[in-house]
Amino acid sequence: MTDKSNYGLETLAIHTGCGPDPSTGARTIPIHQTTAFVFEDAEHGADLFALRKAGFVYSRLTNPTVGALEEKLAVLEGGSAATCAASGHAAQLLVLSALMSPGDHVVNSCKLYGGSVNQFAKIFPDMFGWESTSFNPQNAAEAKAAITPKTKAIFVESLSNPEGVVADIEGLAKVANEAGIPLIVDNTMATPYLCKPLEHGAHIVTYSTTKFLSGHGNAMGGAVVDGGHFNWLAHAEKFPRLAKPNDNYNGIIFAETFGPMALAIHNHAVGLRDLGMNQQPFNAYLTFIGMETLSLRMQKHCDNAQAVAEYLERHDKIAWVSYAGLTSSAHHANAKKYMKGHGGAVFTFGMKGGYKACTTMVKDLKLFSHLANIGDTRSLIIHPASTTHSQLDSEGRARAGAGDDVLRVSIGIETIEDLIADLERVLKTV
Ligand SMILES: *Cc1c(COP(=O)(O)O)cnc(C)c1O
Repeated sequence: MTDKSNYGLETLAIHTGCGPDPSTGARTIPIHQTTAFVFEDAEHGADLFALRKAGFVYSRLTNPTVGALEEKLAVLEGGSAATCAASGHAAQLLVLSALMSPGDHVVNSCKLYGGSVNQFAKIFPDMFGWESTSFNPQNAAEAKAAITPKTKAIFVESLSNPEGVVADIEGLAKVANEAGIPLIVDNTMATPYLCKPLEHGAHIVTYSTTKFLSGHGNAMGGAVVDGGHFNWLAHAEKFPRLAKPNDNYNGIIFAETFGPMALAIHNHAVGLRDLGMNQQPFNAYLTFIGMETLSLRMQKHCDNAQAVAEYLERHDKIAWVSYAGLTSSAHHANAKKYMKGHGGAVFTFGMKGGYKACTTMVKDLKLFSHLANIGDTRSLIIHPASTTHSQLDSEGRARAGAGDDVLRVSIGIETIEDLIADLERVLKTV
């Protein structure tokens, strides 16, 4: 598709990344299940290896099915280009690997997905010497105060998993611009249907496509979307991988040669090539197809989640509900500003009956699957205290928002009356 600017999100979600296949006429995206691609001649092979021409060499770096998904992601987010990775976690490693060196520092939100907290607080410093300081994502001044001369990025979730805290993206973008570092926003929970962080000044967007983008609980994946407007050359000392000569590729400077796509090309030509966390073509196919219905699904997810949150808020066995779509939520103002007033589909609530009531809920609900995922068509539930956070002591669980009384749900797109009836049936017994 050439003229992308005038189309709406629904049209773009269906039509970008894939026209009819030129060799067969196949209308939907073919799965290019191949490891390597034949060169036209010796010169073509040499040009591809030297990055003088764009094309396919080996599926660890680029693959047409994965490339189609990358194009769809870049267009829906309004970025210059995207790079897919094997998972959301792989995408976070990939983007930081282009920016960070041992001893460098990242300022990250204290409201992140649990696995990301572990990456930033434990694994990145232990393995790579990437230090971090966390801050409250609604308070840009806290992020600013945490920045040091070694800081290379601010990392935040637009809508946090699981508490639904909505970050002050514009305030954080301003802080990032003043410091000459990129603002990276994990947009997994919001998706471009609710929020486009690049339009609010963010420089890079990351995804776990495993969740709402693929949407059916059947494909792992992640992505880094290059916003294309961070000026790497103006901060060359800070970002040598992007703004200084690369001796692997005949001394090219990525930011000079590839301009607004510098990060995306680096992520393929160096990140995926050398770290090897590429996405599989079959997973890219599933995510590509899933994304075609993103708008329909997200609206239904949000409508259902809103109805369930309102029902629970009124219920006398429920202590509290943390959902940004509720007018009673402390995050509702930011949800209005950044999320079209919605709270997404994932939230937590507290059971007055504590630990025992929570375990009864996960055991007896029929339409809610008890598992560790979000963003499926099906409704999902988990009791963090007895599963994901069971290794922490009770004080640590409370601090992580995973106290004994807490349940996390990801509301699916089933018939809303059926979901409420299922909850009503079990709530009577706890
Ligand atoms: C799940 C998740 C991740 C990690 O993604 P994987 O695909 O599981 O590696 C990162 N960020 C958020 C907000 C998530 O929900």
